[in-house]
Amino acid sequence: MIAAKPQIDDELRDLYRDLILDHARNPRHFGALDDATHSAEGINPLCGDKLRLDLQLDSDERIVRAGFEGSGCAISLASASMLTDMVVGLSARGAIDIFTAFIEHMRNDNPAQAACIDLGKLRALDGVREFPVRVKCATLAWHALHSAINKQAMPVSTE
Ligand code: ZN
Repeated sequence: MIAAKPQIDDELRDLYRDLILDHARNPRHFGALDDATHSAEGINPLCGDKLRLDLQLDSDERIVRAGFEGSGCAISLASASMLTDMVVGLSARGAIDIFTAFIEHMRNDNPAQAACIDLGKLRALDGVREFPVRVKCATLAWHALHSAINKQAMPVSTE
């Protein structure tokens, strides 16, 4: 019975890798929004990831559309793709709650609080936590989301 656990971990790791590669190769919501109400750019100089995130919020501050453009490593693209998949339909506040929980989860800062929010498919990025440099790839799009919702004019940089 004890031997079963590593096997499950291996299977999960394979599933997660497949999910990341699928999002990186076929990013969802790829493309700029003509009618964006909120936008932000993010750069990760260490890896060379660059992206621009566009959001369209309605009068109730609900995210009705999301899109992104950019180039970067598989982790940055997969994270941006998952982000756009997850935030459509959420309130701006709900999206910021996920941002906060995800950043804390990736930094292992405050696991108890992060555990209150269901990170869903973002858990596919858990393996990245062992590599602090790659955490910046995984969180870049989320910092751009935070910046866009808060209407910060300066591009976000991980450095
Ligand atoms: Zn990267």
